[in-house]
Amino acid sequence: MKPLQESVLRKISNAGRSIVEMFGSIGRGKEWKYDYFREYLLALSRGDNFLLPRRDYKKRVRLDENWHDVLDTIRRESKDGVEKYSVIGVNKEKRAVFVREVPLSGHADHVPVETIHLAVDEMERKVGADLVVDIHSHPDWLLSGLWGDSKEVRRAAFSPGDLFRLIHKSQSHFVGVLVEGNENLFVFRTRGTERVDLNLVVLSQQTFTDYWLNYYGFRRFRLGSGTEVMTNQNKKITGWDVNVGIAERHKLVIYRGLSGGDLFRVVP
Ligand SMILES: [Zn+2]
Repeated sequence: MKPLQESVLRKISNAGRSIVEMFGSIGRGKEWKYDYFREYLLALSRGDNFLLPRRDYKKRVRLDENWHDVLDTIRRESKDGVEKYSVIGVNKEKRAVFVREVPLSGHADHVPVETIHLAVDEMERKVGADLVVDIHSHPDWLLSGLWGDSKEVRRAAFSPGDLFRLIHKSQSHFVGVLVEGNENLFVFRTRGTERVDLNLVVLSQQTFTDYWLNYYGFRRFRLGSGTEVMTNQNKKITGWDVNVGIAERHKLVIYRGLSGGDLFRVVP
């Protein structure tokens, strides 16, 4: 593999308020302006103790143009039908947020764990930043494939495995971002999030997925192409319902937004 150049990592911004100032503002107002959201990411890089309780997540979050640029680049590049992956990290000493400018390519229906490790290791090595946000995309064909949802009810939704990655103790990020169709989904861990600490042999991503699919009456179905989709006889139950169930069980917060737009809290 070719070594990646320093230029693929770009600083979003190094200005900003202190953590103390930001926490003083928590509880006032209904939205996080971008500065506050950014400050929260800086705080999270210091560890789980900085996670906010679920009730303190604002109704609306504003992203800045750099974030929209990152998300829309991933959206555009996913048109080749392959999932894309990127990372956002924080260098605590420099109080700086870094993003991988060029997203990595995964496979059609998942990002291999080696790709994830490559991106995280590279960020640590090159800019001394720890992973805080993990971003991936579902290419367009998955819109009708992954959950087998009918056109009328179809909305962007994480796979159970995506949410497992945020919940399992072996993973260190705090925020999972999904770019799907024209939508952006952000899922946050909270102070009350129950994290799964079982050995991955005992509780794997697959076991977790099977548990939730079974709970909601989904069946796996393998297409001729070899790709697996999840279908439900009860057409009223969608992939999004499964997202809500997992988020409620593990006290996660989910925001939904459109390309270029603000994020709105949809769970709880
Ligand atoms: Zn996914």
